[in-house]
Amino acid sequence: LTLSSGVMAQRYVVGTNASFPPFEYVEAGEIVGFDIDIVKAIADLQGFEVEFRDLSFDSLVPGLASGSLDLVAAGMTISEQRKKVVSFSEPYYSANQSVLVHQDSEEDLTVLFGDNDIGVQTGTTGDAWVRNKLIKADILTGEIRNYDSFVFVIRDLANKNIDAAVLDKPVAETYSKNNPVKVVAEVITGEEYGIAVSKNNEELRQKLNEGLAKLKENGTMDQLIEKHFE
Ligand code: GLN
Repeated sequence: LTLSSGVMAQRYVVGTNASFPPFEYVEAGEIVGFDIDIVKAIADLQGFEVEFRDLSFDSLVPGLASGSLDLVAAGMTISEQRKKVVSFSEPYYSANQSVLVHQDSEEDLTVLFGDNDIGVQTGTTGDAWVRNKLIKADILTGEIRNYDSFVFVIRDLANKNIDAAVLDKPVAETYSKNNPVKVVAEVITGEEYGIAVSKNNEELRQKLNEGLAKLKENGTMDQLIEKHFE
């Protein structure tokens, strides 16, 4: 009994939010980046196909839960809260939060204390941190401004429509290379990124973990880090 010959490879729908360089961003109309390369490399090694969907960050976990997405590669931090709804691969990258201001600004970390407007991308750990640690504690008395995309956070910061942004440091550093913004503080949150899958998809989670282990072993992971981060 041969079922395998000529059977089409399993095709998975991958959700991402392509406003998170160098992990995922749009270049010449295509979704590219470190996470995208990782998922493509795992797919090659493990014999499946992938197609990417660029969605708002806060719709990614619900997309897994509803079954419209099979996996999420979006620099997504492994958190206890998210683990109630989805499962994660082994961690593949570590990051902290950071504070970004306009390059002309003289503010530092204290921009978060007082009557300033802070931009965040909705549903991120940065969003939760500003809400839980700053707003609830009455440390920040200005507004938290929520955006669907970091592209618009950065645009508003560059235009001085907001006073600061809180986002993952590697991404803040990447944006600061091509925009009039600068990182003025790091917030040690000790986050680890994982690829997310729906809770009942243990088979796919195993395929991802095996793939990640192979990428680390065969040097691809180091090559991709070198390609996407200086
Ligand atoms: N690492 C952050 C989080 O998981 C931000 C991810 C993102 O905006 N793509 O919430």
